[in-house]
Amino acid sequence: MIPFNKPPVTGLELSYIEEAIKSNKLCGDGGFTRKVSELMESKFNAHKVLLTPSCTASLELAAILIDASENDEIIMPSYTFVSTANAFALRGAKIVFVDVDADTMNLSIDAVQRAITSKTKAIVPVHYAGISCDMDKLMALAQKNNIWVIEDAAQGVMAKYKTDYLGTIGHIGCYSFHETKNYTSGGEGGALLINDKELLQRAEIIREKGTNRSQFFRGHVDKYTWQDIGSSYLPSEIQAAYLLAQIENAENINMKRLSIWQQYYEALKPLEQAGHIKLPYIPAFSTHNAHMFFIRLNSQDIRSSLIAHCKAENILTVFHYIPLHSSPAGKKFGRLHGEDNNTTIESEKLLRLPLFYNLEKNEVESVINSILLFFKKSD
Ligand SMILES: *Cc1c(COP(=O)(O)O)cnc(C)c1O
Repeated sequence: MIPFNKPPVTGLELSYIEEAIKSNKLCGDGGFTRKVSELMESKFNAHKVLLTPSCTASLELAAILIDASENDEIIMPSYTFVSTANAFALRGAKIVFVDVDADTMNLSIDAVQRAITSKTKAIVPVHYAGISCDMDKLMALAQKNNIWVIEDAAQGVMAKYKTDYLGTIGHIGCYSFHETKNYTSGGEGGALLINDKELLQRAEIIREKGTNRSQFFRGHVDKYTWQDIGSSYLPSEIQAAYLLAQIENAENINMKRLSIWQQYYEALKPLEQAGHIKLPYIPAFSTHNAHMFFIRLNSQDIRSSLIAHCKAENILTVFHYIPLHSSPAGKKFGRLHGEDNNTTIESEKLLRLPLFYNLEKNEVESVINSILLFFKKSD
């Protein structure tokens, strides 16, 4: 069986975890957290990286940080994971979903522009499949209207917009280290990137249960106390230790993923030329990270047949994202602004192929051959 995903393991994870255990300090913000945060700050040229338990937690922290509340509207694509919206719904804010562009499945800048009102507090671009949104246009729109930009870069670690790493461009960036993402901190994990220096002090307080404990540990205050609302947004040292092994190996993991992605792309090109499928499109400003290899079929029925065909050949392929604006909670906490020209129809045709660090070249070939066979039979 070729699974859809296996969490990446590069070699040093176990020895780092052992080191963490021997240090007799396993709670958050210990040596491994400091090491991996600083490594990411220098690698990604990020002002401040704060580890969190998940990208979901990062988004929730970001929503508290910008004071999202009942009177606010938050613009985001309908085609995304629930956490993007849930974080702001938790604060009582109204979610304004917009359509995506059909070529990238990233939010449509024109749709965002039309959705902005005096109540708009933030835009949350999602870099789908690690392929960048058009950040210059988005940042210009945000600046003109005095709106926050919070990048959901869950899928975008190591990918770039022009020369900047994703997650470092908006005022705030959110990463995921869940086991299905390119790098993991042992199953669950995330990070919050604070790019607007003004936000840092309060972000640290919210992350430390609403206290100024981080300042206390740095010796900036002589006691710590309750300052603000907050929660526990620190991962353990075990998670940080796992993540350090992954980030130290980031180039290696990235190259391996990109080579698998390229192998799929080259081999499936004839199917695109024959009009059977649509391959991913990478805009010139985007350097992607091979987070995902997805194809678009000509219809939902063909997708179902292809999934069944692959399954019979012991290959797992999956699709995702029922558009949030048509989900029960999406209807309750939000609304679609403008037309749904692409979101629903494209989401029904999209299929993701196995792509993970330890996937072997011959396994990729099996997936490719299985897909080629499917279309040969249908010709
Ligand atoms: C995976 C993902 C999340 C959630 O990440 P967790 O670390 O599992 O909380 C949020 N947004 C997007 C776009 C994702 O792909």
